[in-house]
Amino acid sequence: MTSHEFDVLKTHSEHKRFESYKETRKWKGKTILIVEDVPSNFQLLEAYFSRTGMNIIHVENGLEAIEVMKSPNAIDLIIMDIRLPKLNGIRSTQEIRKFRPDIPIIAQTAFAMDSDKELCIQSGCDAFLSKPFLKQELFDIIEYYIS
Ligand SMILES: [Mg+2]
Repeated sequence: MTSHEFDVLKTHSEHKRFESYKETRKWKGKTILIVEDVPSNFQLLEAYFSRTGMNIIHVENGLEAIEVMKSPNAIDLIIMDIRLPKLNGIRSTQEIRKFRPDIPIIAQTAFAMDSDKELCIQSGCDAFLSKPFLKQELFDIIEYYIS
């Protein structure tokens, strides 16, 4: 999906704001891999997901993310920070795409420039969020990929 298509989707889902809270019920038991090196950023995401019934696996760098994806964990979706120690989110996504072409990967980064967004999409991310973002913005994207 191109970023333009997502803008359309986002506008559409604005109208479904309240409905989408119901959608989160379908997420119960799904597993999300969160790749985030800043503890406060992770804690915020963890709080967002606290009432969804989802399982969360957290790693703090790109190498660990690849390791988790190669292990037998059944991950349904990845939230990938771009600025990460050891291996950044762009290169991590490229590696993961080699053996998991299908898994939804949502990139998120602070101080994003348009070139970052382009790089993310080219590397294989499905969607892109600039920090700080609203919980509902994130949930709208997840709803699209998981429900
Ligand atoms: Mg970071």
